[in-house]
Amino acid sequence: MKIIKGVKISPGVAIGPIYYFERYKFPIPKNYIKPEERDGELVRLKRATTKAASELSRLRELVLVHLDEVHAKMIDAQLMALTDEEVIKEVEAVVQEEQKNVTWAYFDIMTQYEETLEKTLYIYHKERYIDLRDVKKRVIHHLSAEKQYTAPDLTEPSIFVSKRVSPSDMIHIHHVNAIGIITEIGGFDSHSGILARAFRIPYLSNVLEIDKIKSSEQVILDADEEKIILDANKNVMKEYEKHAKQFSISIKKSLRGQAVHESRDGLPFHILLNAGFLSEVESIEPSIVQGIGLFRTEYQCIESNSILDEDDQFEAYSKVIKNMNGLPVTFRTFDFGRDKFIEMLDLEMFHQDQLFDDWGGISFCLENPSLLNSQLRAFLRSSVHGSIQIMLPMVSSVDEVLKCKEILRDVQIELREEGTAFSEEINLGAMIETKDVMEILDDLAREVDFFSIGTNDLSLFLIGSERKSSLIKNHYHPVMFQAISKIVESAKRSQIPVNVCGEMGSDPYALIGLVAVGIRSVSVSSSAIQQVTEVIRNISIREAELIAEKVLSADNTLEIYTMLNKFYKMNVEPDNAEVK
Ligand code: PEP
Ligand code: MG
Repeated sequence: MKIIKGVKISPGVAIGPIYYFERYKFPIPKNYIKPEERDGELVRLKRATTKAASELSRLRELVLVHLDEVHAKMIDAQLMALTDEEVIKEVEAVVQEEQKNVTWAYFDIMTQYEETLEKTLYIYHKERYIDLRDVKKRVIHHLSAEKQYTAPDLTEPSIFVSKRVSPSDMIHIHHVNAIGIITEIGGFDSHSGILARAFRIPYLSNVLEIDKIKSSEQVILDADEEKIILDANKNVMKEYEKHAKQFSISIKKSLRGQAVHESRDGLPFHILLNAGFLSEVESIEPSIVQGIGLFRTEYQCIESNSILDEDDQFEAYSKVIKNMNGLPVTFRTFDFGRDKFIEMLDLEMFHQDQLFDDWGGISFCLENPSLLNSQLRAFLRSSVHGSIQIMLPMVSSVDEVLKCKEILRDVQIELREEGTAFSEEINLGAMIETKDVMEILDDLAREVDFFSIGTNDLSLFLIGSERKSSLIKNHYHPVMFQAISKIVESAKRSQIPVNVCGEMGSDPYALIGLVAVGIRSVSVSSSAIQQVTEVIRNISIREAELIAEKVLSADNTLEIYTMLNKFYKMNVEPDNAEVK
């Protein structure tokens, strides 16, 4: 029996065979074609290179807008590699003479070039090797019938093992038999982590011995105890089979109960739901929350790998609203960028270059007004089914909000003229999650109806942490509490409500710190609702406020963690608290 340790990203237990996935290994079909298929193969190549070229041209335009001509030239190098006549001729020859299918032929020829360049001593050529590899991936992606960038189907219930898992992989494997996830890299606050918890798939990251696991036939994944067991003996296996069964029964049950509206000392507190799929909304009884505080609309696009058109969005949003039985739903406009991509927007390259960590969110939508216009129309049309609010992600200037308000006004005029019904009572809020916005809080507060704090991204900008880092210590960082207190004060001055919708709100210890510095509303994923409810029900907000000063003057993470942990133990788990 061998035990391998990891870091818990999503709780639960699973037992099953391993499905090892290597992201950039292309499953190249190695079949020979018939002579009559040759022309069709060459047409496929033409189509694939044309698609790749138009993607690269679009990317070039974006690079020019966001960076400069020097960086745009990097794309030119790829465009040249893509249209290199020598390469195309050689591929055609292999297809004609050797009768290899075009994907196989293209792969072989490009790999030969790549290997030659990789071995060269000239830096310039070495750099071209990277360009070639990128172009190869892009063309082969288009040539392949299956989507190569998404994880393939798991044919039986399996534990997915990979170096990392992207949000789109996560959505895909959730639908196809993934019962657990093990990765080398992956963070608690990452979107993949958020999705794993939403889908209730046990997930361990920071696992350094992936190589040992990938060759195992059957493993036990115990995310609760942060371990993976290989070659378990009979007794251990029997014990875990019971756990795994209980876990799979528990995730099928929908969450029921009554929403908590107040703390132990009778002060009001709101607990809202974070969701991105209808299934998440359906998995809870609406009465256990006071509404949806964050609906991540981009998740449905990642799932379908396309931008939903206005009617599809209208239908999806209407279902969510109806499911909430009149409770308010806060829809966030598309928040692409960072680790959330869909192929057609082709944003991954920006991210890989790490040039645009703070890019995306509302600025991307404002650059694509038709996208924003159709989404706002869909929001407004669906508003007749209940109560909605609209929230803007990654806001970094007042100007962005003013522009959105103008577009929203135009959409309202359009709908009135068409005679389409919509609610006139829709609040517009801003997410507070970038560094720049921290400098303009009061000005911004005058322009919006509410603030919602995105602690996942805010910690990235304020502490310089990475979302893919598996540690959650950022939740106890003094800088975070100081920033949140500043946001609360600004919201108070303008008399607008403020909510926390980042993962800090579902961390039971951090939650106490948030309450201490004035937060009275959090929005958390369905998997965290029970625990958050338990904390709020058991703490006195007045008592929590007494530690605010200490939290705000602490100078390190450990000091804050110790303080919050102690408060938690004394109030939420008094039986386990040490008596001194
Ligand atoms: C956040 O950044 O905290 C947040 C809620 O937004 P997302 O996780 O979707 O980026
Ligand atoms: Mg965010």
